[in-house]
Amino acid sequence: MAISDEFLSELRARTDIESVISPYVNLSKRGRLVKGLCPFHNEKTASFTIYPDSQSFYCFGCGAGGDAITFVRRIENLDYVEAVKVLAERAGMQMPEDGYDDSLAKHRQRILAANREAARFFHSTMMSEQGRIGLDYFLGRGLTMQTIKHFGLGYAPDSWDALLRYMRSKGFTNQELYDANLVRKSDKGERTHYYDNFKNRAMVPIIDLRGNVIAFGGRVLDDSKPKYINTSDTLVYKKSDGVFALNFAKNGNPSQIIVAEGYMDVIALHQAGFTNSIACLGTALTQEQARLVSRYAEEVILSYDSDEAGQKATKRAIEIFGRTGVRIRVLKLTGGKDPDEIIKKFGKEKFRSLIDGAANDIEYAILREREKYDLDSIDGKTKFLTSIASILATANPIEQDAYAAKLASEMSISKDAILQEVKRAFRRKLEAQKKNRFNEIVKETVTPKDAVNPERAKHIRATKAEEVLIASLMLNPDFYRKIKDELTEDLFITEFNRRVFTALAERLENGRSIELSMFAAEFTPEEMGRLAQFGAMGGTVSNTVAECNDCIKVLKEEKAKSSAVNAAELSDEEFKKLFRKTEV
Ligand SMILES: [Zn+2]
Repeated sequence: MAISDEFLSELRARTDIESVISPYVNLSKRGRLVKGLCPFHNEKTASFTIYPDSQSFYCFGCGAGGDAITFVRRIENLDYVEAVKVLAERAGMQMPEDGYDDSLAKHRQRILAANREAARFFHSTMMSEQGRIGLDYFLGRGLTMQTIKHFGLGYAPDSWDALLRYMRSKGFTNQELYDANLVRKSDKGERTHYYDNFKNRAMVPIIDLRGNVIAFGGRVLDDSKPKYINTSDTLVYKKSDGVFALNFAKNGNPSQIIVAEGYMDVIALHQAGFTNSIACLGTALTQEQARLVSRYAEEVILSYDSDEAGQKATKRAIEIFGRTGVRIRVLKLTGGKDPDEIIKKFGKEKFRSLIDGAANDIEYAILREREKYDLDSIDGKTKFLTSIASILATANPIEQDAYAAKLASEMSISKDAILQEVKRAFRRKLEAQKKNRFNEIVKETVTPKDAVNPERAKHIRATKAEEVLIASLMLNPDFYRKIKDELTEDLFITEFNRRVFTALAERLENGRSIELSMFAAEFTPEEMGRLAQFGAMGGTVSNTVAECNDCIKVLKEEKAKSSAVNAAELSDEEFKKLFRKTEV
């Protein structure tokens, strides 16, 4: 069962989509529309558009779109009912008691409750005699009791079922614990056997921006392997989105976020007063994580370990954060292998001075190139300057000039010579970009990919007609009465568009509202993007009944064509019938 139209209408009336989106996207007014950089894909020019009139949004770059509910679903990674709840709370409305299916939402709530209870268990176990070894581990790393409490650290006892038994006594089922990845299972013979996922480990809870415990990291206390066991993906946690301590860091220095390698580094940094530190979870930084962090920072300071793996991670992070548009600076860790060690050895003042002196991404790239060449030889110098030129090609003209001047005096080469080389490198980049773009366009035209409507490529003509019809009906609901005798759902060739039309027609038939938010329950956020696109087609359809009739004609022709293909398989009698029909 869906949430009632009345409730959704009221919610829509009390919700302004612009104010829902503005905390996530920098918006600017363009006439009647509002535009900004899309939070769902990387872009440099704004193609993310809000339509205040229809209370919808649509991105011309990636096809994301929909109503306010869809936006909240996508940006906060919630299911439909949860997103409605968030907006209802915001609008000061009481959710209806029943009449909607929220079993998934309830299951997620149970998993979150299980995680919270497990965090309590790990913490209190650590504070007991049995957990002394875990407490000693954290104290041995130099953490204070205050820090340990602040981060809710704990200890998973050396037992196969201590957590399982405790959680069962608190009313959690095996399935809930399994779905939370707190226990694992093995099938031996007839019986399924459950056992604790974390055993004899120092436990760090991962907390999301709303304060929910969504996952755990468990570290061994000695040198055994694996060093870390982490919660795998669950209904409430996706490792590729996971950022540790962002819940604290977002309240700290808002313009700057320090990105460290692991959670022990982050905890040490917070204890030393750098409460704007975070770590991205998982083995490699993802675009989702970078986007999430960049939402809270104007500048990120990369503070990875000084070993080779750390340098590799830095390079990757520069590239990925670079696409989000935040300023990037790179910390050169001198005197220790990671932030934790530097703070312990030299104190937090030293670390502060490293931050203040951190190189921006261009300086960092130049430093790294410098290490590669022998600058005393002419050959080394030439190679060095060629590679610097391609780095500077991405900088703005003022930066180019400043770095060229600095390098010129340092290397006794004329500034003009360096700038010439930069220009050449810039042209090479442009050519390469053009070629890439061209290749992309060719690829798109030859094999158009459409995840929402996979049949589109096979039936381009029919799909276009279907889309104009749907858009026209969405923009002019009164057309429905005029064309409904001619237009039936079996005329639709692609399954997705047929589904959209059926949902639309059902509502129009009963005189119900066809605002976008009425469809958010039955269509996925990706599909809602397509619906928003139809709604945004105002400029490309003529908004006339005549155009609709033309499209209906096209659909009939296409339908006949596709049945003609099957004509060979028809009996003579059937074939004659078909013939008569088309003649009339
Ligand atoms: Zn987009």
